[in-house]
Amino acid sequence: MLTLAEFIRNMLQRWFHDRHRAAQSMRHQLTDVSHLVMLQQVEKCCYITVNPVDWNIFSVKRSGKQWTIDLARKTCICNKFQMHHFSCSHALVAARERNLDFTSLCSDYYKRQTLIDAYSVPIMHVSHPSSWVVPSDIAERGGFKSKDQETIRSPDGGSTCIIFREDNHPIV
Ligand SMILES: [Zn+2]
Repeated sequence: MLTLAEFIRNMLQRWFHDRHRAAQSMRHQLTDVSHLVMLQQVEKCCYITVNPVDWNIFSVKRSGKQWTIDLARKTCICNKFQMHHFSCSHALVAARERNLDFTSLCSDYYKRQTLIDAYSVPIMHVSHPSSWVVPSDIAERGGFKSKDQETIRSPDGGSTCIIFREDNHPIV
């Protein structure tokens, strides 16, 4: 069982390390995949015309169809903007009209820094149980020994290993 747990820990440690390194090497504010999707959205913007309704609301048209975008609420009548928390092509056109950074229209989940943060947590090996600091109430419920139960005092005042029950045995 411990071997399996150690195998899983090693695997997770390798995954986190590799993904953290990959995220660090990305060159854009968005992750590589999100950046590609954004470029596809930008390509769709070519034949869209935009009319501002007010500072945040825009009406865009293409091929006889019309969409309304609210940049403040991050919504579009196509529903893709609010559903994916990622700018649709209509919102991109409106953002371009306002000189807004496209990445401000995307959730942080699509951003490189979020990926870096997610994989920056180290997966440490589990130390030997003798070094665990377990609160006494948890120790009683879980069968752990707490620090205050770690040693048994022998009548002469010396310490006894709780596992091997031997005087002067190194405490395990
Ligand atoms: Zn849209």
